[in-house]
Amino acid sequence: MRAAVVEGGRMVVREVPDPTPGPTDLVLRVLAVGVCGSDIKTVGWMPDGAVMGHEMVGEVVAVGDEAAADGRGWAVGDVVVSMPATGCGQCRDCAVGDVARCATGEQLGVGGRAGAFADYVRVSARESWHLGDAVPPELGAVVEPLAVGLHVVNRARLTAADTLLVIGAGPVGLTVVTWARRLGVAEIVVSDPQPARRTAAAEHGATRTVDPTNEDLGGPYDVVVEAVGAAGMVGQVVDRLRPRGRGVIAGVCLQEDPFMPVMGVTKDVDLLFASYYTTTEFAAAARLLGSGDIDYSSFVTARHGLDELPVLLDKLAGPHAERKVLITPSGR
Ligand SMILES: [Zn+2]
Ligand SMILES: [Zn+2]
Repeated sequence: MRAAVVEGGRMVVREVPDPTPGPTDLVLRVLAVGVCGSDIKTVGWMPDGAVMGHEMVGEVVAVGDEAAADGRGWAVGDVVVSMPATGCGQCRDCAVGDVARCATGEQLGVGGRAGAFADYVRVSARESWHLGDAVPPELGAVVEPLAVGLHVVNRARLTAADTLLVIGAGPVGLTVVTWARRLGVAEIVVSDPQPARRTAAAEHGATRTVDPTNEDLGGPYDVVVEAVGAAGMVGQVVDRLRPRGRGVIAGVCLQEDPFMPVMGVTKDVDLLFASYYTTTEFAAAARLLGSGDIDYSSFVTARHGLDELPVLLDKLAGPHAERKVLITPSGR
């Protein structure tokens, strides 16, 4: 099969052996896989040979022996969404569904087990769910970012009574807005310097959008979510919180980010960090998307074949107006 393999910090599409399922696995033909901001930021840090891609939906082509007997009815041709992580099923982290943090588990697409920027991917049946047929199959690739948004909202203990500021209207910011809206949050302010992203935020349910280059962010807010991942963000989150507010750092920042602790100390705020999601949260995201109750078709703004991925990553590293870009390996 073809896969986008990391070589010297860049992806190169080349032939690699097809995956075969272990006893508890499924092998999927990848129908679509989202390009994540974290892929763009971390590809240069990946070991040679890594296959990235963690926002996946696929069609079952092979079922491991134990998976076939797990009672969940896996069959060739089923459309399935899978978490890019699998746990031991025994430890404290797995007990609360936090399989991405399982010490003996495996994560897909971040340098260890191969991810889905490929024609086929091997996933764990235990961390997979049927998508159903109420939505186009390729839209299943947005279940993963939706799960990220739900996890952020849960970390923040967000309720309908809270006011919310979301800094950054990329895919994570947008999914946070979606869940906040469903919770009934009345004031959802989204800040982003790019007009196209502010438009996206409004379409996803922001009640007000702000251009941080020339407008005040307002507040203070009960909850502030940072979904940018750049130096200076932590201080900005703390600055915009009201006393006893909750700030969530969800951006992937790979530099030091100094901030003044006394700003948070005087207001008694909670500063939280978030990545991934639990199995419960991922299943909830799969259920919501699969139900067709939310229209997420406008979340996806571009589709490309696997061969275009290396050049695409360079383009997406700069400013762009895309929301979620999908790779459809079969090129359909
Ligand atoms: Zn992602
Ligand atoms: Zn475990």
